[in-house]
Amino acid sequence: MTPPRSALDLAAAIRNGEASAVEVLDDYLAVIDAHDGEIHAFNLVTRDAARAQATAIDQRVASGEHPGLLAGVPVALKDNLCTRGVPTTCSSRILDGWRPPYDATVVTRLREAGAVMVGKTNMDEFAMGSSTESSAFGPTRNPHDTSRVPGGSSGGSAAAVAAGFAPVALGSDTGGSIRQPAALCGVVGMKPTYGTVSRYGLVAFASSLDQIGPLTTTVADAALVFDVIGGHDPADSTSLDRPAPRVLSVLDEGIQGMTVGVLTEFLEDADADVVARTRQAAEACAAAGARVEEISVPEVRLGLSAYYLIAPAEASSNLARYDGVRFGLRVDAEDTTAMNTATRSVGFGAEVKRRIMLGTYALSAGYMDAYYGQALRVRTKIIEGFARAYRRCDVLLGPTTPSTAFSIGAKVGDPMTMYLSDVCTIPTNLAGHPAISIPFGSGDDGLPVGVQLLAPALAENTLLRAAAVIEAAAASMGGSRS
Ligand code: GLN
Repeated sequence: MTPPRSALDLAAAIRNGEASAVEVLDDYLAVIDAHDGEIHAFNLVTRDAARAQATAIDQRVASGEHPGLLAGVPVALKDNLCTRGVPTTCSSRILDGWRPPYDATVVTRLREAGAVMVGKTNMDEFAMGSSTESSAFGPTRNPHDTSRVPGGSSGGSAAAVAAGFAPVALGSDTGGSIRQPAALCGVVGMKPTYGTVSRYGLVAFASSLDQIGPLTTTVADAALVFDVIGGHDPADSTSLDRPAPRVLSVLDEGIQGMTVGVLTEFLEDADADVVARTRQAAEACAAAGARVEEISVPEVRLGLSAYYLIAPAEASSNLARYDGVRFGLRVDAEDTTAMNTATRSVGFGAEVKRRIMLGTYALSAGYMDAYYGQALRVRTKIIEGFARAYRRCDVLLGPTTPSTAFSIGAKVGDPMTMYLSDVCTIPTNLAGHPAISIPFGSGDDGLPVGVQLLAPALAENTLLRAAAVIEAAAASMGGSRS
């Protein structure tokens, strides 16, 4: 059997008995077995647990129960999402051997909706990076061209969806880590409004920025997954105490009468072929009845520098817990301090150490106000800039990334160039707003281009309606490059 590709279709077929969850799983496992040796999307494939879950779904269907919105849909999880009893490594040596004693809330919600967890995906170590090359376990390769990176940090999740290893994956997005790899791998990636999806059980990188979201092959699947994982969770103190917007039901409402602002600053930062695709996406919005105008939000230019103080500052604090006592790796030494130092020296990779040092410096006595404090003031400016834009526009449009997928090894030696990969995604995280990357044709090199839509907090409805219009336009354009 060739499984239908979208999660919506798969779940429907499994619910009405046209397909069995076990057969669907076996089809996906066969694709993983054939190709993941080369792609390396997974750190771990949880074959037996997946088969047990799929069998249980088939039994529920047979006994006439409603098996859930994601009945039998294989889902890949970024390896920073806690899974009870199943290794969760953050692609770091420091978590070697650690098995979380609990499930992340998103994992529980997926399971309750009938999803089948197929494995844990590779990522940049502790989600710090844009290429998956900072993984302690080696890079993931882009399924469209295995000499290229899949993006990062959720590169394993994006590659898994692009390679047909699972129709759905979850990633986390602190500065672009869902949207940037989605763009480079030609899949849909959505970062929800901060606080709409519980962070309970997401290993923290920068707690004021981290959000979990879906990577899928269609906008409707992203909406479906958001409907399942969103909503208040008392276990996360930053979870919004109100229902998350329900989005799947509004997808085909169109964008007639909306105003779409094309963000000047993002166009200036991108390659010509990526800009051309973005302009075509804007034309598609106009053809669907939206008013399209170009809009400048100069404050977004400050995003990268503010982010590289705030995110490392929070990371240096969050990562202090890996002391060789409570989690994973321990390198024994003569006393506790020496043990801490030895464990952290061996356990963390170069990029993580760089962030810890940057963050510690930004927070140190005498410098905190000049660096961390100043970055927080800039963050407020960015929020004000977006607020001004959203008084005129319902959504903003721009490229997701400045270029298509770059070659493995091209940027590892130059952290600043690597950081620039996220220049178009970071401002949204600083504002806490939702955004989505939608595949839109290809670049001059034939590789996928992603366009990005941004919306105000809790405007996922508007965001996804516009995303559906752009997705339809991309489909009618076929694979064309011009
Ligand atoms: N690439 C950015 C960084 O390295 C964003 C990472 C993320 O969103 N987790 O920090």
